[in-house]
Amino acid sequence: MKQQVIIIGAGASGLMCAIEAAKRGKNVLVIDHANKVGKKILMSGGGRCNFTNYYVAPEKFLSQNAHFCKSALTRYTQWDFISLVERYQLQYHEKTLGQLFCNGKSKEIVDILLDECKAYNITIKLNTKVTKINKNAQTENFSVTTNDCQYLADKLVIATGGLSIPTMGASGFGYDIAREFGLKVLPTRAALVPFVLSEKDKRLYSELAGVSVFANVSCNQMSFEENILFTHRGLSGPAILQISSFWQPKDHITVTLRPDIALVEYILKQQKEGSKQQLKTILESVFPKRLVSHFVDEKLLSSKIAALKAIDIQNISDLFQKWQIMPCSTEGYRTAEVTLGGVSTDEISSKTFESNKVKGLYFIGEVLDVTGWLGGYNFQWAWASGWAAAQAL
Ligand SMILES: Cc1cc2nc3c(=O)[nH]c(=O)nc-3n(C[C@H](O)[C@H](O)[C@H](O)COP(=O)(O)OP(=O)(O)OC[C@H]3O[C@@H](n4cnc5c(N)ncnc54)[C@H](O)[C@@H]3O)c2cc1C
Repeated sequence: MKQQVIIIGAGASGLMCAIEAAKRGKNVLVIDHANKVGKKILMSGGGRCNFTNYYVAPEKFLSQNAHFCKSALTRYTQWDFISLVERYQLQYHEKTLGQLFCNGKSKEIVDILLDECKAYNITIKLNTKVTKINKNAQTENFSVTTNDCQYLADKLVIATGGLSIPTMGASGFGYDIAREFGLKVLPTRAALVPFVLSEKDKRLYSELAGVSVFANVSCNQMSFEENILFTHRGLSGPAILQISSFWQPKDHITVTLRPDIALVEYILKQQKEGSKQQLKTILESVFPKRLVSHFVDEKLLSSKIAALKAIDIQNISDLFQKWQIMPCSTEGYRTAEVTLGGVSTDEISSKTFESNKVKGLYFIGEVLDVTGWLGGYNFQWAWASGWAAAQAL
């Protein structure tokens, strides 16, 4: 069976690439080993898919080559994807920081993509395991052997994503294919992932599990201001997921709880105004109660504000606003949203996504060494890279 284009991976980038290539008249087959298309889309954004971001910019992506993502992101923008979903009357909202979520379920995004696939007669073969890929040196065709058939194609697109959530079908397949064809693959690691604390710290902070607080979290010259969440294993929440992409083992993270309040000045102001309150009352007006009783001992908490010396106030402030902690590890691919690293962009065209070494072989989406921040950036990368490759197929 001869196809013009075979795409391996029916996730975000693979489906977008299939739709755009078929629109341009190509005969497209999509192969996936999972039993459903777009499983990560379905589970994304807490079930509401954060499908793009108003503020997409190359600075929101990590890669060894910071320039690689620019071309695709400027040619297929967030506004292009927004106009696609608006054509289908998808109801959506901006949650925070430009992040666009479905009002309904993530499935609505998958339904839009599937409707488009149907409109352009794209064949999608699910539950299909690829066992071998060869390139014929004379015809330059690719042969793709699966558990039930052998297919031939002029062009082959690898859209198999990263390693996060193996239970959802994630695999290292794309990296293996890249290596087989002699392409460079950069070391990978889990990103946008919760931290695990040491056993000692876990015991120390376990009573805080479930507490969420607005914080500034910094590490390695990067910082993020959003909520953090204490968990039974360690720390999570958007600010923690963001900083995890910049964290290396043995790094400390520095946390300022409630960076919107200058705590020293706040307490001094209460003193000046002659407050008769206890420190506990003042602190509980700023931080969650459980956090207050964890960070400050009972005796100090029962002190009257008026009795506190300047040094005490500074020390109390430092407990909350200069808190340093060294995570022991991350939760790894089991819960990570994305994979850092992957197929090196050095050998891929940023315009067409074709390998410079192997004509007709394309890599798109998360399998490449391009990783977005939290906030809809990873889907925008999937849409943009899928779209850009399709223009060249
Ligand atoms: C829990 C979670 C929530 C997320 N939420 C968001 C969010 O709200 N916003 C955002 O921007 N990003 C989010 N992401 C990240 C986003 O899902 C990915 O970056 C994006 O899906 C990558 O698209 P892709 O097409 O490269 O890969 P994927 O969407 O992962 O698709 C890869 C496809 O390839 C298939 N495949 C893998 N191996 C093989 C193989 N050997 N043979 C055949 N098929 C194979 C898989 O089954 C899958 O269908 C989230 C990720 C997770 C895990």
